[in-house]
Amino acid sequence: CGIVGYAGNPRTACGKPLEVCLQGLERLEYRGYDSAGVAVTAPSMGHVEVRKKAGRLSNLVSSLEQTPLPDATVAIGHTRWATNGVPSDVNAHPHTSQDGKVAIIHNGIIENASQLRLDLQAQGYRFASATDTEVAAKLLGKIVDAVIEEKGHPDLFEAMQRLGRMLEGAFTILAIDEREPEIVVGARHDSPLVVGLGEGENFLGSDVAAFVAYTKKAMEIDQDQVVKVSSDEIIVSDFYGNIVENPRTYEVDWD
Ligand code: GLU
Repeated sequence: CGIVGYAGNPRTACGKPLEVCLQGLERLEYRGYDSAGVAVTAPSMGHVEVRKKAGRLSNLVSSLEQTPLPDATVAIGHTRWATNGVPSDVNAHPHTSQDGKVAIIHNGIIENASQLRLDLQAQGYRFASATDTEVAAKLLGKIVDAVIEEKGHPDLFEAMQRLGRMLEGAFTILAIDEREPEIVVGARHDSPLVVGLGEGENFLGSDVAAFVAYTKKAMEIDQDQVVKVSSDEIIVSDFYGNIVENPRTYEVDWD
């Protein structure tokens, strides 16, 4: 129900990405939720780590205190309002690709998830949760692998464009991939996504409330667009890879 993302300095991993996500989720609490989770990665980590818990944000925070996450460069955070699958630790977001290299969070409902799940199961994919979101996670992992096969290098931005073309229903999705630990990629259809522009860092949110404590400069991502965000660059395209030149930015009016 609430989405936050952060991309910071690719040369120095630190605690800020996680802190920004937790603070953002707190600011999005007013929307209501039943579970919360985060995922982080960094060049120095070499893998993606996920923590998620049913119940209050404080459950997630205490589990992070018990087993802290390593310092990161990018992070995504989610509060869930269950639509497909009961509220539980397993159904909470983020969800991961089969190999655990890609993590995603999602707001909305993917209408063709049952059919996609059957197709993926027939190909040997195994599901841990009852959510539509995990279907998107497994599918995105599969697409990332196909893109690597074709281009010889990972390209989460292109993979997300292809995912956007395959999903039906409403979605705001953010993803991170341990092979591209300096970017967060987002996509949206019938569900909002906003980018917050910082200095040497950038933010993402389902709502400006997610990052308004850090920056008032924002960029609205339009219907059926994908965005690739690093600490110093924001690239927007449609689901077919056509780049959007000079996406509109504005000052958030916040009192
Ligand atoms: N449909 C997804 C789920 O049930 C996302 C719900 C949400 O927007 O939080 O997990």
